[in-house]
Amino acid sequence: MNKNILKKIDWVTLPFFVITPILTVYFIYLYLKIDGFDPYILIPTFLFWLFTGMSITAGYHRLFSHRSYKTGPLVEFFFLMFGAGAFQYSVLKWCTDHRRHHLKVDHDEDPYNINKGFFWAHIGWLFIKEDEKYKDKFAVDLEKDPLIAWQHKYIIPISIFMAFILPAIIGYFMGSVLGGIAFIGLLRMLFVHHMTFFINSLCHIVGFQTYTDTNTAKDSPIMALFTYGEGYHNFHHFFQTDYRNAIRWYQYDPTKWLIKSLELFGMAWDLKLTPQEDILKAKLLMEGKRLDKKLALTNSMELKTKIDNLLSELSVILDSIKKAKKELKIFAENKKKKNELAIFEIKRKLAEAKINFKFKLKEYSYVKKSLQFALA
Ligand SMILES: [Zn+2]
Ligand SMILES: [Zn+2]
Repeated sequence: MNKNILKKIDWVTLPFFVITPILTVYFIYLYLKIDGFDPYILIPTFLFWLFTGMSITAGYHRLFSHRSYKTGPLVEFFFLMFGAGAFQYSVLKWCTDHRRHHLKVDHDEDPYNINKGFFWAHIGWLFIKEDEKYKDKFAVDLEKDPLIAWQHKYIIPISIFMAFILPAIIGYFMGSVLGGIAFIGLLRMLFVHHMTFFINSLCHIVGFQTYTDTNTAKDSPIMALFTYGEGYHNFHHFFQTDYRNAIRWYQYDPTKWLIKSLELFGMAWDLKLTPQEDILKAKLLMEGKRLDKKLALTNSMELKTKIDNLLSELSVILDSIKKAKKELKIFAENKKKKNELAIFEIKRKLAEAKINFKFKLKEYSYVKKSLQFALA
């Protein structure tokens, strides 16, 4: 093998990711052979899978990387401990890499650049030593946080305790230390690894570009099932500070449900939401791009002009709705300066804009239908 390649390999992470699946199989074999399978072991295994996985998605990702909501030190501590149990290194390292992924997505400096292939984006990038220029250079805001700095300093012992020693203790009280290590420790960790690694790999391959085509991130309800709801990745890349990845109530996003539940119990606040009008605008713009491709097949300038005009009119109306809502919010927050007449005028304009939007949208759907006829 080329000596340069050997020099580039990270001889800590590569053996770790190769040996842990082998150990998982071996420990399951030992457990079944020596102690026999106890179905109750699946309960703490499931809970650990949930706690460690969602400490990555709700904690490492949406809280620490994107600051999409705020929470107290107790919840932060929970995420730091169970996140360490997922064995994906410290918040400081994870979030610094992730912020670079968003900033340089699909380019060389993106640590898990999908253009280097599925394997690289999924796990391969972890096998190669980090470029010297990024080594020990972390996001400043995170570095200053004493809890995050503490977790980074002791990440190895914390991870070993949360991933293996605590599962072994739970196993002991359930009658099998081996069962605890095999199921709550190793098997659970293997699942969490690949379900969260899918966000960097398959979520940039499988699905739809609903809101943007400026990067490879995709929206996929199927991938959401395997990634604690992070499968709506196209939305996430375009509106990265939003605490949601799925915006509809029926779409599977348990990470969002967890954050919302924390808010209901007063344990999370300042949940960031993208204005509905911005989401609609992005969606319409993307639809316009797809329609352009179909329009090219018809050569109908009339239809193209109509669609272009309607899309820009819809965009202007959405801007005016957003502006009116913002003005009303300002009045609501400054109760003393209330000006009834001005509020009435804004509400009137808002109502007018909403009706206008409804009619234009209807007209737009008719024009789209006539495009379908033209193509048939
Ligand atoms: Zn992200
Ligand atoms: Zn991504």
